[in-house]
Amino acid sequence: MSTLEIKDLHVSIDTDQGNIPILRGVTLTINTGETHAIMGPNGSGKSTLASTIAGHPRYKVDSGSITLDGEDVLSMSVDERARAGLFLAMQYPVEVPGVTMTNFLRTAKTALDGEAPSLRHWTKDVKTAMSKLRIDADFAQRNVNEGFSGGEKKRVEILQLELFRPKFAILDETDSGLDVDALKVVSEGVNREHSKGEMGTLLITHYTRILRYIKPDFVHVFIAGRIAEQGGPELADRLEEEGYDRFTTVEA
Ligand code: ADP
Ligand code: MG
Ligand code: MG
Repeated sequence: MSTLEIKDLHVSIDTDQGNIPILRGVTLTINTGETHAIMGPNGSGKSTLASTIAGHPRYKVDSGSITLDGEDVLSMSVDERARAGLFLAMQYPVEVPGVTMTNFLRTAKTALDGEAPSLRHWTKDVKTAMSKLRIDADFAQRNVNEGFSGGEKKRVEILQLELFRPKFAILDETDSGLDVDALKVVSEGVNREHSKGEMGTLLITHYTRILRYIKPDFVHVFIAGRIAEQGGPELADRLEEEGYDRFTTVEA
């Protein structure tokens, strides 16, 4: 079992208006095998948390720690974090012009594992994963994310998840912009990987809809840069009924 531990994390960003604190003491422990949902209103800092875990240079860690099995994640480069087993599916995936999906996936897999995957298995694994995610075979020869629809980008992210087999997957609003069919396909992919029991998931979402397909073990309500309340799946049901108002008024 592996553990991703976030302790009293304070993060700020530098803007034209000066330094703005965004995360104000986030503490969270995720073990492999567990699914944690982070739910919160827009602007509460959910993506900031995801980006900070992934090592985005924009975000400045003022205090606190992130460790993976005791190793200091914050001192790792973005690549080192990926090799250590962290995977971030971003709210706004980037396009990589001039690089085909096939080349990207194989290069990334090689970098992650420190050796090239056996070609025979790899080609078959990619094909199988693509077909399960209902990604058209043509996509293998297309440039990464270039001209992909929102739903296609999300499927391709889950394709990476299934092929790279991270220890911890951080899914930032993977549900946004998906119709129900795409949401099901994407959720099934996450669930398939999860069922192997070797992945911890941090599922960041604004809406409860995706939680009908991906069942969280823990739900954290995120308000104004910190966790305002935690509970089990029933907390998501309550949010569905009551919204975030109760929490935001308490915090203000
Ligand atoms: P969420 O994902 O919960 O919607 P974000 O983490 O995206 O929240 O944003 C939290 C707050 O930080 C917001 O007020 C947002 O405007 C601000 N913020 C985040 N990233 C940046 C950035 N790169 N530049 C300026 N402000 C930012
Ligand atoms: Mg947002
Ligand atoms: Mg966000």
